[in-house]
Amino acid sequence: MIDRLRDLVRELMLIPGLSGHEGRVRRSIRQKLAELGLAARTDRLGNLIATIPGTEDAPEIMLFAHMDQLGLIVRKIEANGLIRAERLGGVPEKALPAQEVLLCVGEGRDVPGVIANKSHHATSQDEKYRVVPYQELFIDTGFGSAAAVTAAGIEIGTPVVYAPKFVELGGGRIAGTAIDDRAACAVMLEVARALDEIDTHPTTHLVFSVLEEFNLRGAVTAAQMLQPDIAIQLDLILATDTPDMAARGDVRLGGGPAMSLYSFHGRGTLNGVIPHPAMVRLFGDAARDAGLPLQRSVHVGALTDLSYVQLVGEGVASIDLGFPMRYSHSSLESCDLSDLAALVALCVEGIRRIDVDFSLDRDDYP
Ligand SMILES: [Zn+2]
Repeated sequence: MIDRLRDLVRELMLIPGLSGHEGRVRRSIRQKLAELGLAARTDRLGNLIATIPGTEDAPEIMLFAHMDQLGLIVRKIEANGLIRAERLGGVPEKALPAQEVLLCVGEGRDVPGVIANKSHHATSQDEKYRVVPYQELFIDTGFGSAAAVTAAGIEIGTPVVYAPKFVELGGGRIAGTAIDDRAACAVMLEVARALDEIDTHPTTHLVFSVLEEFNLRGAVTAAQMLQPDIAIQLDLILATDTPDMAARGDVRLGGGPAMSLYSFHGRGTLNGVIPHPAMVRLFGDAARDAGLPLQRSVHVGALTDLSYVQLVGEGVASIDLGFPMRYSHSSLESCDLSDLAALVALCVEGIRRIDVDFSLDRDDYP
């Protein structure tokens, strides 16, 4: 499965899909679902939904991961052809200069560019350690005039992403663009394949969601339509096994999938997820019985769209599961393929245990 996962992740990572512009990713995943014999539908926001029917009267599950990625969007084309861009999503400004980007004009017509980094020979002492605000940055496509840029198909509003990249590192690890969250999209496709080979499982709705990096709420329309009893969200879990992250927790790359016991974001968002105790117990038991590793994460400062999905209807029993990942939101995020494989196994093992007797009653839990 590792080989198939690697190929799948690579393929998905190399497709540009800025938030709000997920069309190419959606078409690719729809095709892969079709190959698995699964028909998929799309809602008006662009969420891609495929339902695997299962045991009647068992709680219904929405398993989801987001298709979109963060990036930039063209704000102004200067007369000399240099391009100013607005940030879309949590783009780290300190990781932007000297990056290769792709201006997404249309399949086969995309335009490469570079984000300028002031010539080192002209960099003053106090500029050396300063993060350049994105407003001061510009993208150079090589075209020397606004007319030439426009003729190449670039206009105000054109999506820009990090140049798609896939790097195979040692030890079964990979790096590249949009591992957040295409790796989880690949995991979901593998879960779909595995569920198909199991006799009894609950009805599972696979949702490949939109707009997560933009406003965290794209998945909400899918949840409103599906009215699931349970929501399982798959995304990165911050790895803390590098020196700069050591005090934040105990999540190791290659140490297996992880579940979040607490997430919170203050600054204007004021949301987070404290998972339903039934979900924590379910995946704890599933991991133990199947001999799978399961790491635990508590983190303030990052959210997923589950924060909003949990509030739909009379409430959805929710949990964030994920794969450890380093260097989030940079153009070279990194994860371990064995964690993705184990996450597939954990999801399947957990989901198959949900039957008609599975209780979501809070009073059945401490
Ligand atoms: Zn994500």
